[in-house]
Amino acid sequence: MLFLWLWTALAWGLPSPFEATLKRLEAPGVVEIRNGCEPYPELRNDVHSGLRKGFACLLGQSGRLGPFHERQAELLRWVLETFQPLHFSCTNGYGYWNASSTGPGQPMRLFSGKVEYPEVQLELAMLRSSRRANLDALLFHEMLHWAGLVHPGNHDPGPDLVQLYEVCCFGATDARGRKSPSMEQTREQACEILRDKEVFGDKLDKKLWQTRYPESTDKIFQVYKRY
Ligand SMILES: [Zn+2]
Repeated sequence: MLFLWLWTALAWGLPSPFEATLKRLEAPGVVEIRNGCEPYPELRNDVHSGLRKGFACLLGQSGRLGPFHERQAELLRWVLETFQPLHFSCTNGYGYWNASSTGPGQPMRLFSGKVEYPEVQLELAMLRSSRRANLDALLFHEMLHWAGLVHPGNHDPGPDLVQLYEVCCFGATDARGRKSPSMEQTREQACEILRDKEVFGDKLDKKLWQTRYPESTDKIFQVYKRY
């Protein structure tokens, strides 16, 4: 019995502070599905499963990624505990975006309205269509933005951690959110990059990143951007 319990804990359980956080998110009023998302109460399960898979991956439960990434998981856990309720709203009109969210102190105004913090806005057309496959991956991606992780731009050629984490933890997908066998290789590649202990040491070594991975992560993975 003990062995079975141990095996289960190792295979499925997260470290206890993370389990406790996930449990607390189930309390009424913590995860708020609102503003047009009400017809999709199952989003709650996707949030839960995204966090469970994402945390397990960052904490190295299926192959250690390293302490740098474990700290990102801790940071996101802190955000989830500190800034409640967590809002999940729906919106019409991005057209080419599936979702958006913002980091702390980075209020964002889109033509469809303001994105609060912590909030994930989901495109209704995406929820209604086949693009909604792999929704837990998309939700984990958006919640990583809450922890302050951003997509690097022209002035910041650093690693796109959000994309690396999404691909390594959930696998690459095509534009419709479908997985394919060749994308498993892409997933391996993303995890391999994250295991680079010299780039992701105590601190992120951006200079080394630029020398070692001069192509942007978009180009490395050729994956569809989901924002
Ligand atoms: Zn993003």
